[in-house]
Amino acid sequence: MSTVLTEPSNPTSTSVAATPFDNYDLDSDIILLSKDAVYFYVHMLLISKASDAFKGLINLPQTKSPALDADIADSHKDEIKDGLHVIRMQDTSAELNMLLGFIYPSTLCPGSPSLDTVEEMKRAITIAAKYDIDVVRHAVIRRLRGEGPIPQPERVFAFVSRHGVGEKEIMMAAAQRTLEHPNPTSEFPELQDTSGLPAVVRLMRYQQECRDAVRNVVTDLAWAPPVNPCRFCSRRTNTDIVFRNGPDNAPGYWQDYMNRVIAQLHVRPWHGIVREPHIVSMALLKVTPCNTCLPQTPIIIAALDQYSKALAGEIRRRVDSVDICL
Ligand SMILES: [Zn+2]
Repeated sequence: MSTVLTEPSNPTSTSVAATPFDNYDLDSDIILLSKDAVYFYVHMLLISKASDAFKGLINLPQTKSPALDADIADSHKDEIKDGLHVIRMQDTSAELNMLLGFIYPSTLCPGSPSLDTVEEMKRAITIAAKYDIDVVRHAVIRRLRGEGPIPQPERVFAFVSRHGVGEKEIMMAAAQRTLEHPNPTSEFPELQDTSGLPAVVRLMRYQQECRDAVRNVVTDLAWAPPVNPCRFCSRRTNTDIVFRNGPDNAPGYWQDYMNRVIAQLHVRPWHGIVREPHIVSMALLKVTPCNTCLPQTPIIIAALDQYSKALAGEIRRRVDSVDICL
């Protein structure tokens, strides 16, 4: 992702964005001017293909795009620089950098925009909604639903629920992500929402509904692949879970695994917990005391891996079915 060469502190002093938005190959055909006075030399074909909001720019100076009504100041419609029309935007240079970083092919603009902080997430969500660009929307959703850590997803959720009209898919993905470590706190500025049902209440209600949705995932095992029974360590731990192969032959490691999963699901109805190392490795420790199970350890590790994947899929499926009340 390119960065802006200079961030002008004085709005009357202008600068030019970094490559590839500096007209380095002289084939740009329109200029976007950020509200903090950075010129971005861009290509109408690329930006108008990405967002209908830019389509009206092709017919400049005749009309402006309805979606950008608030953004294009009439008084600057005819500004020309290097022979190109200058469109004055309401977006900051950081926002334009991100928007164009998503629009431009990676051959021209290497590296996707980073979505590693709450501020970057909020910026991307704003862009997705304002310019109605699916590639940005999907990048946010992929990031929220992916494996990488997400800092403070509660803030992302609250931001979307307050500002992101029409961005329900992102709001759902952010709400789901809070299930990893449910800790809604009204200390986050975005959760200080007094209009309608406060975001923090909506989120807590949603989290509870997700806990309810996954509650019987470990008692109703219709989804589950079978586990090798063992009649020698089957009664080592106490459990209410019904073993798929029958109530009497649930191996000790499996009971231990399920008990740890249940304890976590009461608090965190998050599919990722079932494969967390402390849960899986603690269960595997229960293999060693059983002389029947011990020689099968490699098989058990593979079986538990397959089992946990199926369990994660089932948890995710159930959580996906929970809607958030708006
Ligand atoms: Zn055993």
